[in-house]
Amino acid sequence: FEQYLLEAIDGACEAGARIEIRGANRVIGLSALDPAKTADAPFRLNVETPEGRYDLDVDWVIAADGARSPLRAMLGLGFDGRVFEDNFLIADIRMQKAAPTERRFWFDPPFNRGETALMHKQPDDIWRLDFQLGWDIDRAAELDPGKIKARVAAMIGADTPFELVWSSIYTFRCCTMEAYRHGRIFFAGDSAHQVSPFGARGANGGVQDVDNLGWKLGAVLRGEASDALLDSYHSERKQAADENIRASSRSADFLTPRTAAHALFRDAVLDLVEDFEFARPMVNSGRLSTPCTYDGSPLNGVDALPDGPVRTRPGSPCCDVILQDGHLLERLPKGASLLAIGLDLPDRISLGTTPLPVLALSAAEDTEGLLAQRYLGASASALYLLRPDQHVAARWARFDQTALATAYDTMMGGGRDG
Ligand SMILES: Cc1cc2nc3c(=O)[nH]c(=O)nc-3n(C[C@H](O)[C@H](O)[C@H](O)COP(=O)(O)OP(=O)(O)OC[C@H]3O[C@@H](n4cnc5c(N)ncnc54)[C@H](O)[C@@H]3O)c2cc1C
Repeated sequence: FEQYLLEAIDGACEAGARIEIRGANRVIGLSALDPAKTADAPFRLNVETPEGRYDLDVDWVIAADGARSPLRAMLGLGFDGRVFEDNFLIADIRMQKAAPTERRFWFDPPFNRGETALMHKQPDDIWRLDFQLGWDIDRAAELDPGKIKARVAAMIGADTPFELVWSSIYTFRCCTMEAYRHGRIFFAGDSAHQVSPFGARGANGGVQDVDNLGWKLGAVLRGEASDALLDSYHSERKQAADENIRASSRSADFLTPRTAAHALFRDAVLDLVEDFEFARPMVNSGRLSTPCTYDGSPLNGVDALPDGPVRTRPGSPCCDVILQDGHLLERLPKGASLLAIGLDLPDRISLGTTPLPVLALSAAEDTEGLLAQRYLGASASALYLLRPDQHVAARWARFDQTALATAYDTMMGGGRDG
């Protein structure tokens, strides 16, 4: 755990959150407490610690236990996909070098013939280097510090001093579970899905998983939504994982072509890029992670903003806008909210016992015209219903209490328990 995470958790606890961190606690068993029920019964976790074992009875489990997920194995669940038969040597070095801070990729460079290499800058004068090694390698020999230093020197120049800080060899695969929800057990992060490292989609996808699950589970626990809301965790995040797997597999196919057709395409693109601009966007060294638009989600309500911008349609993550007074995403209220543009609305709209905070903006605050471009389109006014994870749930040109209540109900999974 990094310090800033501990501080954020301390802050949340001071505000009343009940979070406890238990380091060196390993879950070694999971069983349903009531054998008459199956996945919907409360669970007992068997936990091993350096001081001994104990049992923990829990109502819900979020299995965020990584790519090898012991919990997935305990439940006998599958993890299907494609293994990319390649190894990459990763070497972090410390050096003072006035090289560009952008991510740099080499295809078939003189210092790694027939393979690729990657360099990008990290904080504190650390540079991360990746060397593609191929599939059939002697791992121990490749991890020999002398051999790694020789590779690095060939890449950065023999006269550039550096210190080898860390090294490792990784392989990757693109896999996903079929279902991310199993009753009261949810899989999140690498335990649910894995992608190639090209595109920074792994950790980003995991964070987006919990961003999606957190508000839904909170709403169900508080009795504000029915259990059906939790089903949308699987449908939305599986859709996102499939999108990530598609994008990162395409990058991997470009970087490490596995068929003659992939190799032909890659080499043709690389031949063309120097002289022809049209070929440059086809170089695929990883399309960087972007949040998924949940098209077709059961939580999406109406799109009643005529000719509204496509990028803010229901299901989309809100895009940011520079306003006269800060950034839009920073100004949005926490939790579910309303964004009103060019409409005269109070600070709060009540839906039964639920108060929805309103961020009301006017054209005067849209100093760069981005709010109109991204949220109004051809309309003079707009009202957006936003989910707690800042995805658009529904939008209209004007305020209508009945339509809003219907969309809010849909956003919360279509009804409350009890
Ligand atoms: C070389 C490389 C580069 C990468 N670069 C990027 C990048 O630039 N951007 C990006 O977004 N992603 C990147 N990733 C992917 C990213 O590292 C992973 O997607 C991310 O760490 C997954 O997070 P997670 O919390 O799901 O799993 P993990 O980080 O694996 O965490 C799982 C945790 O569960 C714990 N655990 C396991 N079993 C048990 C048990 N039985 N009981 C209790 N606890 C248990 C583990 O100790 C661990 O702390 C990269 C990956 C690699 C290999």
